[in-house]
Amino acid sequence: MWSIMIVLSFLFNQCNFNNTSVYNRIKEYADQVRVIDAHEHQHWPEEFGDHQFTFYNLLAVSYLSADVCSAGAEGFDWDTMDTLSLDTLWAIYGEALDYTRGTSYYSQFVKGFWKLYGFSDLYFTRENLATLSAQIEENYKDYRTWFDEAFHKAGFELMFIDQFWKPFNTELDDNYFALVFHINPLVSSSSRKPEKGAELLSIYREADNEGYEISNLDDYLAFCDHLFKKNIENNAVCLKNSQAYSRTLFYENVPYEEARALYDKPSSRLTPAEAKKIEDFMFHWIIKKSIDYDLPIQIHTGYLAGNGNVLDNGKPVKLNNLFLQYPEAEFVLFHGGYPWTGEYTAFGKMFRNVYLDIVWLPQISREEAVHALDEMFDCVPYNKFFWGGDCGLIEESTGSLEYGKDVVAEVLSKRVQRGLLTEEVSFDIVDKIFRENAIKVFKLEEGLGRGD
Ligand SMILES: [Zn+2]
Repeated sequence: MWSIMIVLSFLFNQCNFNNTSVYNRIKEYADQVRVIDAHEHQHWPEEFGDHQFTFYNLLAVSYLSADVCSAGAEGFDWDTMDTLSLDTLWAIYGEALDYTRGTSYYSQFVKGFWKLYGFSDLYFTRENLATLSAQIEENYKDYRTWFDEAFHKAGFELMFIDQFWKPFNTELDDNYFALVFHINPLVSSSSRKPEKGAELLSIYREADNEGYEISNLDDYLAFCDHLFKKNIENNAVCLKNSQAYSRTLFYENVPYEEARALYDKPSSRLTPAEAKKIEDFMFHWIIKKSIDYDLPIQIHTGYLAGNGNVLDNGKPVKLNNLFLQYPEAEFVLFHGGYPWTGEYTAFGKMFRNVYLDIVWLPQISREEAVHALDEMFDCVPYNKFFWGGDCGLIEESTGSLEYGKDVVAEVLSKRVQRGLLTEEVSFDIVDKIFRENAIKVFKLEEGLGRGD
C-alpha cells in the first residue's frame, strides 16, 4: 500500500514538475519576443494636467480604479489628491482597495510594479506604498527617460496608439508608437451638424481650421476623406471603432440618398431613429474607405470599461451583417467579446476576414481568458490572433503584458501536456500572437525598428 502511494505521489509530483517546466519554458520564450502591442492609450503625464504623480494617480488612471469604485470608494479627484498625504489617501481608498485584492484588475496592476520597480509583495499596503510611491514620484520627474527605460524593460517594440481623447492628432513619437485612426467622431458627429449659436463639435471645428466648409453630406464626406488621407500620410496602421460605449454595434445599410436627405435636416429635428440612420450610413462609408485604403478596422466588442453603461450595445453578434456584406474589409474584434466569448470566437472561425485581438480580456477576468483562449485555439487558426495592453501609462501596460503572457503560457502549456500541441508549435503561436500576426496583417515591415 505504502509503495503504491509513494509511486503515485512520485508520478503526481513528476506531472506537476513537467507542467511547471513546460509553462516556464513557454513563458521564458514569450519574455524574449519583441512585442507588437496592437492597442494602447498611452498618455504623457502632462495630458492629465499639472500634477505630481504618486501611486494614487497611477491607480486613478488604471482599470483597477473602477473596481475600487465598485467596492464603494468615491471617484478620484486629481486636484484634491494633490493636497493629501499618502496616509490620508490610504485612509480614503485603502479599505476599498483591499476588497479588490482578488480581482484580475488588481493582480495585473501589481505585476507592472513587479516587473519595473522590483516590488515583490502580493498586495499594496499602507506601509509598502510609502516606498513604491516615492519611486514613482522620482521616475515621473523625467517621464520621457523613465518611459524609454520601462518600454524596453517590459519587452515592447511598438505600440498602436488609439488617441480617443484627441482623435485628430496625427503626430506621434514613432520610436515607440504607431498611429491608429479613431473614427468615432466621424460617425457620431454626422447626426450633430452645427446649428446657429451652438458650440461646434470638434470635427466641425477641425474642418473650419483646415478651411473646409461643410453644408451638406458631400462636404462632410470630403472632409472625412481628407482625415483618412492625413492619417495615412502619418503612417496610420488601422482604424478603431469604440462606439459600443455610446450606441449599438448594429449598423444598418442605409442608402446614400436617404442619408443625404437626412443630413440636410436640422440635426435638432432628427428623431433618434433618423440620427441613427445617418450614423449607420457613415460607418458603412468608412468600411468602404478602409477597403480602398487597405486599413484593417479594430472594433471594441463586449464589456465596457468604467462604472455604468449599456452592456448589450457591444454584443459581437450585432456586427454579423457587416462581415457578410464586406468580405474585402478586415475586421479585428476586441476583448474576447466578454462576456460573449463564444460568439466572438465563432466569428473568428466563420470569416476569413475577422481577426481576434484578445486585448484586455486577461485583465477583465484571468480565468475567463484562460478558458476562452483554450476554446479559441480549438476553433480558430492561430494566424488570426493579436494581443494589446489597452492602458494609459507604461506601468499598467507592462502589467498587462506580463498578465497576457501568463495566460497564453498557461493555456499553451496545458495543451502541450494534453498532447494537443508540441512545444515547438506553442512557441510559434507565441510569436504569432505577440508579434508576427500584427506585422503581417497591419503591414508593418517598413516601419519596424525605427527607434533602434
Ligand atoms: Zn482601448
